[in-house]
Amino acid sequence: MSRFFLRTMALVPLCCTFALGIAKSPKNVIFMIGDGMGLGTIYAAMTVNGGSLNIEKCTHTGFSKTYSANDYTTDSAAGGTALACGVKTKNGMVGMSPDSLPVNSVLAESAAKGKATGLVVTCSVTHATPASFVAHQDNRSKDEEIAADFLKCPPDVFIGGGLKYFTKRDDDQNLLNALEKKGYVVAKSMEDVRKVNSGKLAGLLCNNHPEKVKHGREYDLTEAVMKSVDILKNDEDGFFLMVEGSQIDWGGHANSESYTISEMLDFDKAIGAVLDFAQKDGNTLVVITADHETGGVTVIDGDYSKEDVNVRFNTMKHTGVMVPVFAFGPGAENFSGIMQNIDIPKKIRVLSGIK
Ligand code: MG
Ligand code: ZN
Repeated sequence: MSRFFLRTMALVPLCCTFALGIAKSPKNVIFMIGDGMGLGTIYAAMTVNGGSLNIEKCTHTGFSKTYSANDYTTDSAAGGTALACGVKTKNGMVGMSPDSLPVNSVLAESAAKGKATGLVVTCSVTHATPASFVAHQDNRSKDEEIAADFLKCPPDVFIGGGLKYFTKRDDDQNLLNALEKKGYVVAKSMEDVRKVNSGKLAGLLCNNHPEKVKHGREYDLTEAVMKSVDILKNDEDGFFLMVEGSQIDWGGHANSESYTISEMLDFDKAIGAVLDFAQKDGNTLVVITADHETGGVTVIDGDYSKEDVNVRFNTMKHTGVMVPVFAFGPGAENFSGIMQNIDIPKKIRVLSGIK
């Protein structure tokens, strides 16, 4: 063996470490939130799906502590703000610190860094979780004020419900005009969304919240998510996309096994498409978690072959238990172990270099 070869060998570990360091900074981030998606709900859906889900393709898992600034059990406003902005706030507040000061979300910070941004949900876009990424309000029920906040720092692409909060307002303004002036194509149906291939898109596909998926939702979450990815990936600076499976929580509140499981399966279908994209792309970090658990869902028994599960609900409210965190792609290893909910956006900030 020549001396040159030996020296080259000695250099290899150093080079590899350096190369890995570079590769772990993702260009794109897709942050997926299953509202109320606890471990019981995931496992119930896994059981009726024959024993597996797409979410299992994630390579790293952890747990998130969800308590808010003023409550052992968070609501979706404080939970959303923690995940969006990295700040524990009081229940009911969106995009604000406990002392009512506005705080920025990773979506807004990504936009400030020149990245394309998107938001796709299965509720009104003014509801607590999406509002946490865009708005700054002391009360989550201020839908019209939250809709107006969408004009200040709108995601390049947003798809969900909530049209009436933009058009039938107490101040008689039609916010769609202002969006169009900013260069948005406003789509009121999935058919119209399909026609858009680039630029800015406001997809407001129903007046308030969309239907339950089991009752024939106005649009398919997976299609809406992948359409958004198609538009956002045109940006050479990369993109940040938030996706919410919004109604898993509502199935939990209703203590309805079929409601919460069908919404979980719908969300998991979108997860499958997103993970396929991330795998092919190689430069996209996917982080999946919940804002809190809903219903105290316990899986009593099940049968994979019969795709049958026996679920017990323990409350009609949220619970304080830790929720799982899943990650895939460059930087995914940072999301294992037990963390605070506010650590998740902090990690995203560092990894994607937005702050
Ligand atoms: Mg929500
Ligand atoms: Zn809830």
